[in-house]
Amino acid sequence: MSNNFSSLRINPARLRADFDALAQFGATGDGGIHRPSLSDAHLSARAWFRDQVEKTGLEFRVDGAGNHSAFLNCAAQPVIASEAKQSPTSNVEIASSRKPLLAMTPTLLLGSHLDSVPNGGRFDGALGVLCALEVLRVVKENQVALAMNLEAIDFTDEEGTLVGLLGSAAIAGHLRAEHLQNPRGGRDAWEQGIARAGLIEKEFLNAARPRESLGGYLEVHIEQGKRLVNARKPIGIVTDIVGIASYRLTFIGRADHAGSTTMEDRRDAAQGASAFTLATREIVMRDFPQCVANVGKMEFTPGAFNIVPARVIVLFELRAPTADEFARLDAALIERARIEAHRFGLELQIEFLGRHAPTPMSEHAQIAIRAACESLGLAYIALVSGAGHDAQNLAAVCPVGMIFVPSVEGASHSARELTEWEDCVNGANVLLHAALRIAGQPNF
Ligand SMILES: [Zn+2]
Repeated sequence: MSNNFSSLRINPARLRADFDALAQFGATGDGGIHRPSLSDAHLSARAWFRDQVEKTGLEFRVDGAGNHSAFLNCAAQPVIASEAKQSPTSNVEIASSRKPLLAMTPTLLLGSHLDSVPNGGRFDGALGVLCALEVLRVVKENQVALAMNLEAIDFTDEEGTLVGLLGSAAIAGHLRAEHLQNPRGGRDAWEQGIARAGLIEKEFLNAARPRESLGGYLEVHIEQGKRLVNARKPIGIVTDIVGIASYRLTFIGRADHAGSTTMEDRRDAAQGASAFTLATREIVMRDFPQCVANVGKMEFTPGAFNIVPARVIVLFELRAPTADEFARLDAALIERARIEAHRFGLELQIEFLGRHAPTPMSEHAQIAIRAACESLGLAYIALVSGAGHDAQNLAAVCPVGMIFVPSVEGASHSARELTEWEDCVNGANVLLHAALRIAGQPNF
């Protein structure tokens, strides 16, 4: 990267004004926001984003999956404000309508999501989209010529009110018709959401982008944990996004009179299910310090004071950062479930519900983020993301990197969510400098 760019910084006052304006959409009055995907509040936030993009003279785009973008053609030549292209009047601009000369120029995506979980926080996702927009504005104002174009993107339905990590799956070409037939939020909510947004279901399946058009993806996000605060470091460089496996286990015993059946004679499903639940903590803490396991639900049948439980359904998931730990932890926990079932004379049924493999972030992207931190004099640590993000979909098709900023008290998905403003500004500047490093190289 040329030294000419080393003094570039984002505009903190402009970023702050954006942040405060955006936090009004779906505001719950307690510092939080309620902006489920494709709800009225979410669509209002998206309309506001479009306004900001167009006011800046950036090109606004919407793809078939409803992903909203600001696009800056900065690869061919510096863009001068007065010559900025008019925003398209149509809602959808497709790659084929671009000049042939630029057709193969890769684009570096920067972004996150404007949707929230129900009653979520105002930083999760919103910060990453606004940092991305701010980076494009700085590059445009300074007429920086790069080897790649830049795009600030707001992915559709990251949080999974409807489907989950939806816009990025569509771009990466992972989305299948069956994902939309049986969405996790229910078919009715899905149909109502896309109708409100004016989107068409089959277009989601046509939104995959050619690999050669994707130069990479970078995202600023709040950590949603306490590691940065505890380490007193302003920046986290994500090395991996955890893999997640989820199961439904059914421990099957026998219903008996709870008063007249001796303890020896019982085949008590609650004992096996509870012993397994306690063992998950013991196994993870002893042998898998980087991993977590969670029993989120137990259902007892028949479910009465005076009947020995005949059946207990346990919903549980495990998360691990590497493929090796993922496989070993999975095997260890399932084996322990079998052992506990046997110990209490129970049958065990194992149903596998779903799996996302652990996703390593690109080594090149991590190097660029580290170099950006060093040039800005910001301390950093490497860490694993315990939450899913759009980057895990895009990792299959382009180099991806994530920049974490500290979450006060580790709070997230709550109105208590807070990141100190100085940390937000630091994250935006790291995104700017990492993007300049990556987009400045033609063959990153
Ligand atoms: Zn998020």
